[in-house]
Amino acid sequence: MKKEKEIIEEVKNIFSGYLAKMSLRKTPERFAILEEIYKRNDHFDAEALYIHMKNQNYRVSRATVYNTLELLVNCDLIVRHQFDQKLAQYEKSYGYKQHDHLICADCSKVLEFCDPRIQQIKNMMGDILKFNITNHSLTLYGNCQGECETKS
Ligand SMILES: [Zn+2]
Ligand SMILES: [Zn+2]
Repeated sequence: MKKEKEIIEEVKNIFSGYLAKMSLRKTPERFAILEEIYKRNDHFDAEALYIHMKNQNYRVSRATVYNTLELLVNCDLIVRHQFDQKLAQYEKSYGYKQHDHLICADCSKVLEFCDPRIQQIKNMMGDILKFNITNHSLTLYGNCQGECETKS
């Protein structure tokens, strides 16, 4: 596993190249947002990220946060998930393991799992159906055993 610092350097380079290619300005705010995202290991919505940036004393507008998330999705540095009917959630993707999710319907907790059999299914179905599978989404819904289970 690479160190967090190395990963942050690499994603900054990728983002910098992307902004140059798209003739967009390389503002410090955009890079600060990228860095904060790569320091966390969770799933978050745009508003939560905005509040997080404010709490870290960054002077960023809500529009900059939304706009930067859009750019980061476009250059594959983060992924957007649409779980259930909830707000879109984001997470970092570069240098991070492939995984799928379990969502608790009661407390909205997001758990991750990684199972190589899913890759095998993709390979097999691609072969059988003569289909190039480029990506997938798999989300399992339910509730946490214990606290959330007893409440519902
Ligand atoms: Zn729960
Ligand atoms: Zn995840």
